[in-house]
Amino acid sequence: MSTSAHPSAETDSATASAARSGGTVTDRLVELNTRYSEAFTDPGMDARPVLHVAVVACMDARLDLHAALGLELGDCHTIRNAGGVVTDDVIRSLTISQRALGTRSVILIHHTNCGLESLTEGFRQELELEVGQRPVWAVEAYSDADQDVRQSMQRVRTSPFLLHTDDIRGFVFDVTTGKLREILPTS
Ligand SMILES: [Zn+2]
Repeated sequence: MSTSAHPSAETDSATASAARSGGTVTDRLVELNTRYSEAFTDPGMDARPVLHVAVVACMDARLDLHAALGLELGDCHTIRNAGGVVTDDVIRSLTISQRALGTRSVILIHHTNCGLESLTEGFRQELELEVGQRPVWAVEAYSDADQDVRQSMQRVRTSPFLLHTDDIRGFVFDVTTGKLREILPTS
């Protein structure tokens, strides 16, 4: 998530093409799916990730997880949200990933220049003032990506619902160099 990301050339061209054809960007993407499906052959895969790994990452548009980690279709579970923070819902997904679909390893990825760094928990109050209702969720804003990765690793490690907590590693992805930097746990 970022408040300063520029749209990619691909998005630009999809948007421009949609504008030309009078449709929305979704219309254009659905049209692209028709072409995708025409060339698609059933890979005959099981739902269980081949590499037995789940990746939890920020939804940021500049982070192409499969390309950045050399992942192929079927290799992993990807669980993404604003910030890549470990919320109850991420624990829900990880629990299903491990208990029903056989993953054992967890990789957590935050990134530089994340939109969450420009927010505070005051965002919830602003929302409440605007719509008359305070969201039940925390914003999970942070100012120190390294520290937030450590906190996220700790939340996974201490979850009572997970079967495997011995291979949990955390990283910060640099959106300008494409490199991952590993964050070591405090313990
Ligand atoms: Zn982000």
